[in-house]
Formats: sequence, structure tokens, C-alpha cells
Amino acid sequence: KQKRTTSQLSSTCCYCGVGCGVLLNKEKNGSVSLEGDKDHPVNKGALCSKGINLHHTINDKSDRLLYPQMRYSRNMPMQRVNWDEALDRTAAVFKTFIEKYGPDSVAFYASGQCLTEEYYVVNKLIKGFIGSNNIDTNSRLCMSSAVVGYKMAFGEDSVPVCYDDIELADCFYVTGANPAWCHPILWRRVEAHKAANPDVKVIVVDPRVTDTCSIADLHLQLNPGTDVTLNHAIGRVIIENGDIDIDFITNHAEGFEAYSKLVFERTVAEAAVICGVSEADILLAAQYIGNAKGYIAMWTMGLNQSAIGVNKNLSLINLNLITGHIGKPGSGPLSLTGQPNAMGGREVGGLSNLLPAHRDMANPAHREEVARFWGGTAINPNPGLTATEMFEALNDGRLKAIWIMCTNPITSMPNARLVEEALKKAKFVVVQEISNKPETLAFADVILPAAAWAEKEGTMTNSERRISYLNKLIDPPGEALADAEIICRFARKLGYKGFDYENPAAIYAEHVKLTAKTNIDISGLSYGVLKERKTVQWPYKKKNAGAGTPRLFTDKKFYTPTQKAKIHAVADTLTSELPDNDFPFILTTGRIRDQWHTMSKTGKVNKLNQHYQQSFLEINPADAGRLGIKEGDVSIITSKRGTVQVKAKISNQIKQGVVFLPMHWGKILGNDLNRANNITSDRVDPISKEPDFKFCAVNVTRF
Ligand code: SF4
Repeated sequence: KQKRTTSQLSSTCCYCGVGCGVLLNKEKNGSVSLEGDKDHPVNKGALCSKGINLHHTINDKSDRLLYPQMRYSRNMPMQRVNWDEALDRTAAVFKTFIEKYGPDSVAFYASGQCLTEEYYVVNKLIKGFIGSNNIDTNSRLCMSSAVVGYKMAFGEDSVPVCYDDIELADCFYVTGANPAWCHPILWRRVEAHKAANPDVKVIVVDPRVTDTCSIADLHLQLNPGTDVTLNHAIGRVIIENGDIDIDFITNHAEGFEAYSKLVFERTVAEAAVICGVSEADILLAAQYIGNAKGYIAMWTMGLNQSAIGVNKNLSLINLNLITGHIGKPGSGPLSLTGQPNAMGGREVGGLSNLLPAHRDMANPAHREEVARFWGGTAINPNPGLTATEMFEALNDGRLKAIWIMCTNPITSMPNARLVEEALKKAKFVVVQEISNKPETLAFADVILPAAAWAEKEGTMTNSERRISYLNKLIDPPGEALADAEIICRFARKLGYKGFDYENPAAIYAEHVKLTAKTNIDISGLSYGVLKERKTVQWPYKKKNAGAGTPRLFTDKKFYTPTQKAKIHAVADTLTSELPDNDFPFILTTGRIRDQWHTMSKTGKVNKLNQHYQQSFLEINPADAGRLGIKEGDVSIITSKRGTVQVKAKISNQIKQGVVFLPMHWGKILGNDLNRANNITSDRVDPISKEPDFKFCAVNVTRF
């Protein structure tokens, strides 16, 4: 039998934070095929519709950016240039702004899809050499409320559980998430566990009936924005039922008294009315959780993308803490990461308020330690601009230049028209991208072609702290370069030392060193260990640490000063834009099963476009009937910020008074009326600065 492939290498799917292992095959004709990695601990060979079609996104090179381009004025067309010309000019412009207006006049806006090494060098460049903390990523739109929740509850951004806890749990509380579509392979493990153990309880909390509800014992179809009220009511009933863990609360947690006082201020009946669910269902949810031997809370954007995202997170984590379901097999809060490497980015400090290895920007000793290690400039003590703040600062002129890598803010940011205005006003925009499709490219002064997945090597960390090594199988097309190489070349153009790495392994080795003696210590890791083991879970302090650390806080010692977990008595006051007479509906946005973010990759795959070929408005039959809207009618959805115009999909699966738009579509042939973010709210959580994508007031009419 003739050998089909010339080589096979392992990698990790570059879509969601589940982090499934894949085997990449290079065919004799040069194309790439793939299969699920049967030996991978996360997916054991299984892949979802997006993952199984991933190779098409790199085999189809029709949209790839092949060489650097730039223009000297916005009225001129883009011209092909070489790398030196593009980076020399960019370096000259950045230097001019930094000298004239200070380091905070420039910013980098990156992505949860960047590899850890890419995050590391760009973070080092701006914080350690340029002297500004203006680096943020689209993880701000995704996980930052969960990050703050973990920090406030445990003292650090640390996911305590692992996926293997799924098979050890007997109660799941899935809230603000549709993992059946958005984290499918992980959800299949829950489905299989429930099928084998029918007594396992699954509670789903969502204003919509989703595929995740198909195995739910209980679906709480709550009113949007009422999560904190619901979690508090469940907490109250757990206390009333005597299902709290008194030993854990007494010896390993603090704040219970204030929490208990708060949750008893509202009766369950009152909470049921606010949440739009029955009192009996709240009692049942509390009973399921209270009776569980292993209890896992799972959540994602429904809690995080909120003007009260941090409070939602804390109210949920509280349920694990009062029941002592943490640091033991089958128990813990498991935030489902949207992007493949949001956690890797946080490990290196790749957000505007973080320092490497979870060091604290407000701590002078931590800043000094990192600055000394890097050998550049002193680190600015003030947090830099967050994602939404960067575009506000471009709008009002504080920020002059922005470098956007691996993300498409024109489609993905809230209040997208404001983002367009900001990029028009920007003095200088660099876009580092693999594809010629993202709408953000239209605003670029310089376009830098980047290597795609499988065209570069590096590492990522998934939702369960699992670090994976991703092999490079093929060369990037044309003159495209790996993102880390682009940033290092640019840093050298600026004259900075410390960016002449021999290869990505050297970048990784430097990152590893910087984690020593921290709570995410991975001193035992190297590309050598990762290539041998494929994946391990941090912390990983010694070279022979096996598969790493599956579970945190097994000794019940937390990373707070008192080593106790903190139960926070958080308010449930909603600060979102509330409906009124002019805008009587609540809009919530989200993903569909087969598309990823702004579709620059999944949109290229015909099979993935079959599920939903165009955007749509999901609306309840009673609301549609009142408005005279029939299935397929074009509907106009307006908010104070703009308009969307898409066909109606009438569905009992959404509550009356609530409408849903998918977040994926941007401008199509110049028409931006499919773009949900024309109308979303740019309110943010006051602490996490994560936008309120899941709640704004809109009006709906028939076209
Ligand atoms: Fe990729 Fe996520 Fe699907 Fe796994 S579940 S194959 S990581 S998109």
C-alpha cells in the first residue's frame, strides 16, 4: 500500500478553548489533511464540525495576504513593498509619536488566537521597552470578567478544575453558555457521562432554549441580566437546606456572614419573579447542587459579556465555595474559554493591566523584577488602555497609532460604527493578518502578512490550564512571516536589544524562566518536554513532573493573603441599557454552531456555510405576531447606535421580549446591515472592562 502522506505532525485545534488535539498530514501534493488525535487526553480523536474542516482554511490560499503593503496617504492605493520598507516606515512613525506625544500614544490590539510566544514578545516590547501598558487583546471581550472573578475569589486567575473532573461529577450547572454548539467536544463528554449515569443532574440557565438544553434535567429560562439574583436565591436555599460545607466555610473561606445576610434579604418567591422562572425550579436547582457529591459550574459569555460580568462570576463561584466544591475530584468552577489561547496570553501578562506570570502591575517589586529581567525600561505603574478604551482614545486623539494583530475589530467590537470612526481618525493603523477578507484592512496604512496555523510553531493553553505544543507543518505562502518574527523584527528596527531570538523555543524558554517561583511556575517545561508529552497542565515546576497539575487548591490553600477563598456579597443591580418605550426589546448576541468569530476562516469552508447561510433575527412568535412579522420577513432592528436588517427566524426557543442576533457577520459587499455590532452597547463592566454584548435595548419593525 502506497504511503499517503509525506509527514504527520501533532497540533491543537486553533478555534475554541477546549483545545482538541489533531494530527496534521502533509499530502504528497503539498496539501494538508487532518484527523483527531486519538491519543490526546482532551478529545481522544473526536473533532467538531469546525475542527474537522480546519485544514480547508489553510489549503485554500485564495484570500491569503502574500506580501507587505503600505500607502502614504489614505487617498492612495496600497502598494506592495518589502519587509524592510514596511517595518522601517512603521518604526519611524511609532518613534515620532513616542517622542512627540509619549509612549502612551501608541498601542497594540492583539488576539486570544495568538500563540503564547507571540503574546510574550509583543507584551515585552510595549511594556518593557516602549514604556506603555497599551496592549490589550480581544480576550477582553471574552474572558476578562472570569479573570477578575477568579482573582477576587482565589487571589489569582487560576482555573481550579480539569476536564477529567467531568466524569467524576454528578451535578453540572451550565449558565450563560451553549457548549453543545460552542464547546462541542467537551460537551460530548458531559453527554456521554450523563448517558452512562442517568442520575447525573444537568441544570442549564439560559434565556434561550439551546441544544445544550437537550440533556438538561432542569432549564431555567431566566430573564436576561438576572443571573446574580438567581444565583443568590439558589445560595439562600442551599443554606436553608443545610447543604453548606461548614468546615470549608469556617476554615478555608471568608465572607460567608455578609453573603448569608445578603441572600436572605430577598425571598425565593421575589427572586423567581425578577428572574422570570418558577420558585419550584429555583428550589430544585438548589436541591440538585446541595445533594451533589461532585459539582461543576460551567459558564462563558452569557456571564462574562455583561456590564455586571464580575458580579455574575462571583455569585456563581460562591455556590462552589459555600458547598466546599473546590479542590477535590469532580468539583469546581470551570470557565469555558472562548478562544484557543486566551489563557496563554494571560500567563505572559498580555492584557493592559497584567504583568507576566500573574504578577501584579500595582506592585513596585513585581514591576522592578520584570523590568530587570527584560533589561529595557521601567514598567509604567498605570494600567494601559483596554480594548474599548483604545478605540475611544483613537476617537478623541489621545491615541495616535494602533497595531492590530490577528483580530477584526470592525466586526467584533461593540458599537462598531464608533470603531470605524476611530480608525478613520487614527493617524496610523497597522494590520497584521493572514487573510485579505477582514473589514479592518480597509483602514490600514500598513498591512503585514502573517503565517497561519500549521505554518508556524508555538504553544497554547486551553481552558483547563493545558499547555500544548503546535508543530509547523508547512511554510507560509508568499512572504508571510510568523507573528512573533514580525514583532521581533519591528522591535529591532526600533533599536531595542533582546529581540534576536534564534527560534520560538528561545522565546518560550525566556517566558518559562520568568514564571519561576510564581503560582504558575512552569520551570520544568521546554519545547523538548512538550514535544515529548504533547500537552501538560500548569504548574509544572520540575522537568519530570509527568502530565503536570490537574487540579489546584487540593490543600485548600488559596492565593489570597490569608490563604482563604473569598465569598463576595455582590449586588445584583443591573447597569445595562434597559428597554423603554422607544426600544422595548432586549437584544442578546451569540455564536452559531459552525462559524468562528468574524468568519474569515470558517466562512471559507462551504460545508460550514450550510448550517446558516446568512444572519437572522431570532424572535418569539408572540412578539413577531404583534409586529406583523412572518418567518423570513426582513426585520429592522434599531438601537440608539444604529441599525441591523436581517430576515426573521420565528422561534419558541427565545423568551418573549428578547431577540437574538448572531455575532459573526460583518460587511458583505459593502453592506454592513448584517453586523450585529452596529447596535450593541459599549457599556462595560466597571472592573473587568468587558463589554455588555448580551444586553441592550432595541426596537424591531417589519421592513
Ligand atoms: Fe476545535 Fe473547539 Fe471543536 Fe475541539 S471543540 S475541534 S477545539 S472548535
